[in-house]
Amino acid sequence: MRQSKLFTKTQKNPPQDALSASHKYLTQGGFIDMLMAGVYTYLPLGYRVLNKIADIIRAEMNSAGGQEMLMPTLQPKNIWEETGRWETLKEVMYQFQDRSGKETGLGATHEEVIYDLIRRNVSSYKDLPLSLYQIQNKFRNELRAKGGLMRGREFMMKDLYSFHLSQEDLDGYYNQMIEAYKKVYQRCGLEVKVVEASGGIFTKKYSHEFQVIAEAGEDNIIYCPKCDFGQNSEIAKLKAGDACPQDGESLKAGKSIEVGNIFQFGDKYAKDMNGYATTKDGQKQPILMASYGIGISRLAAALVEVHHDEKGIIWPKSVAPFAAHLISLNKNETADEVYEILIKKGADVLYDDRDISAGEKFADADLIGLPYRLVVSSKSGDKIEVKKRSSDKSELVGLNEVLKLLSE
Ligand code: ATP
Ligand code: MG
Repeated sequence: MRQSKLFTKTQKNPPQDALSASHKYLTQGGFIDMLMAGVYTYLPLGYRVLNKIADIIRAEMNSAGGQEMLMPTLQPKNIWEETGRWETLKEVMYQFQDRSGKETGLGATHEEVIYDLIRRNVSSYKDLPLSLYQIQNKFRNELRAKGGLMRGREFMMKDLYSFHLSQEDLDGYYNQMIEAYKKVYQRCGLEVKVVEASGGIFTKKYSHEFQVIAEAGEDNIIYCPKCDFGQNSEIAKLKAGDACPQDGESLKAGKSIEVGNIFQFGDKYAKDMNGYATTKDGQKQPILMASYGIGISRLAAALVEVHHDEKGIIWPKSVAPFAAHLISLNKNETADEVYEILIKKGADVLYDDRDISAGEKFADADLIGLPYRLVVSSKSGDKIEVKKRSSDKSELVGLNEVLKLLSE
């Protein structure tokens, strides 16, 4: 991609109300654009990041047997009334009447929609277990919609739902999902704590949250600095200084960002919405459900909170919008050639071919934060100056070497 053609430019000044690094750099770098509080356009650079994250999630959900589909955002009141959530979620859910006066809502989550689908399509043990997911924008009337992608009123989520005929089966899959989630975050370049939290108003049991330690977070957790153990402070029986139940290390307290949450509903939905299937020996059993969410847009913000410096973002390779930022100093001819070759070889490069100063190009490269900066200039001969965004050292290398680096 030629930067001269890229939609939206970087901005010199941070947004006035920027509270966090992610709000500041995602806006300044041209990743997102605010339409109103908590509602953003994902610009070409930002959408690339979200798609990379989504692809990692897809791979891990598919390999855990998940089937991707897409459910409606527009939802009728009646299914939500069956569980009582039309009332209990009325503050957070966007609810309105359509032209004919029919009560309608925008999806804040999808348990009701999917359970309705399941009860109409699953009747036998032969159909179970089942694991279905989607990637979609959710709508929540958040009071504290913060700047940036951390807390949106419209935000991107992956939500997966699993269905089982026995608690053992559900438990097994739930634990498998914890492992799948850990892989997702690890592949995205995020260290998470697997935190025990309350089940909210739905489940008596605990839920598990996936939390990233960060000052910009809104949650407070007790966690182990060595392993992935944690407890949300809301329910924590342990405190800072106590021994970690997993490895005995001294526990710490800190702020964190919730990037995922998984719940067991057990037979709540079966009872509320009448979802039953017959077992092998002809018995009627409730169809049990668990839900598994990842906040994709919030995850992108969390990545920036963890991976940045005073100049801008430092994207991990796996989620960077492009693998490298090619910069031409002086005339463009040589850089044009290098760009064409890199593109032909399938490299994912953003090429700053604009007629502006070297200083401005370097500043933009630091702000946008691609993993490698490649500089072509009259001084470097037939070599390319390569610098990692995460390091100050640069070296001169040949084109083949560059291709090798980018394909790693
Ligand atoms: P929070 O406690 O932060 O309000 P939640 O517990 O209500 O979140 P869930 O229903 O568990 O959220 O949603 C699953 C995931 O979606 C969360 O773990 C989080 O990563 C993400 N998420 C939830 N609300 C928002 C939001 N308003 N903006 C961006 N991401 C969100
Ligand atoms: Mg949650």
